[in-house]
Amino acid sequence: MLRLEHVSKIFEDGTKAVDDINLEIGSGEFVVFIGPSGCGKTTTMKMINRLIETTEGNIFIEQENIKDKDVVELRRSIGYVIQQIGLFPHMTIAENISLVPKLLHWPEDKRRARAEELLQLVNMDQAYLDKYPNELSGGQQQRIGVLRALAADPPLILMDEPFGALDPITRDSLQEEFKKLQQSLGKTIVFVTHDMNEAIKLADRIVIMRQGKIVQVGAPEEILSQPANAFVEEFIGKHRLIESRPTLQTVQQIMNENPISINEEQTISEAIRHMKDHKVDSLLVIDEKHVLQGMIDIEMIEQNRKKQGNVKDIMETSIYKVEQHALLRDTVHKILRNGFRYVPVVDKEN
Ligand code: ADP
Ligand code: MG
Repeated sequence: MLRLEHVSKIFEDGTKAVDDINLEIGSGEFVVFIGPSGCGKTTTMKMINRLIETTEGNIFIEQENIKDKDVVELRRSIGYVIQQIGLFPHMTIAENISLVPKLLHWPEDKRRARAEELLQLVNMDQAYLDKYPNELSGGQQQRIGVLRALAADPPLILMDEPFGALDPITRDSLQEEFKKLQQSLGKTIVFVTHDMNEAIKLADRIVIMRQGKIVQVGAPEEILSQPANAFVEEFIGKHRLIESRPTLQTVQQIMNENPISINEEQTISEAIRHMKDHKVDSLLVIDEKHVLQGMIDIEMIEQNRKKQGNVKDIMETSIYKVEQHALLRDTVHKILRNGFRYVPVVDKEN
């Protein structure tokens, strides 16, 4: 599906961003590029859709050298999702999703039907079609960014840290959603991250980059069990320390460090403001002793927005309260999987 042969990029100022990389990616494969900031991940993605020309080497898509393709055609045949979602604020969600179909002169009713179908894939209501981006949460906007890339059904999708700007809980649910989506659609995905948890969760194969070079390629288990060198070992080191049994202390620590927690005494309108400020879909709710009580999400808040009371009142009536212990575990697990590391193993009951 995609082949990189001795690909290098030297920028005009002499920076060698990509240094002789070779890689073959099969059809339907989910490949995740990972490496520290500045190692050449974005440059590699941009060379694949020719936003940047290679200095040396060649890139082939389905056996055809991309230099021989019309550049506009090429970009239309590749879905591209980046962190800065870039939805057009003056366009509705339907119009945003339909950008490429419109360029391809699909008739209006076909574009609309396609947008409807895509929204269903991510369980978003059809009512969103005629809303504007600023009416959506950060997580919803990012979903639309992904749908936009899928709109004209490209076989290859490049995703450059697409979930990087989202809070841990939203990121977690989008990762899960997206992995399922990819499995059902069978697309070839090249995905960039600097988050090892994300790579392990999503990848069929992980490509580890350092200073423009590929240092290891392998399935997640392979990379974890047989790191090729000290650099890779250090890169995955933190991941190995993740444990699954959080203590109350851990929870408290997470609450203290986490910008997306909210005190249960705060009012519903404060919670809404908090969600908007942080562009998150969910908030963790803590009591005055900083113990996690549960989670509220946008939908729950929306249902209660006319009430005057505080967050505690919502929690009392919600299933979240009833299931708070299970939720506490699940929520903390989700947070842990998304980057809180160095957690000691202690039994949950203490
Ligand atoms: P990553 O996405 O892995 O963080 P990039 O591919 O963005 O890294 O950048 C790789 C290297 O190339 C960095 O040293 C970066 O500063 C440099 N670089 C990126 N774009 C340009 C450019 N247009 N001109 C000069 N140097 C650049
Ligand atoms: Mg980058």
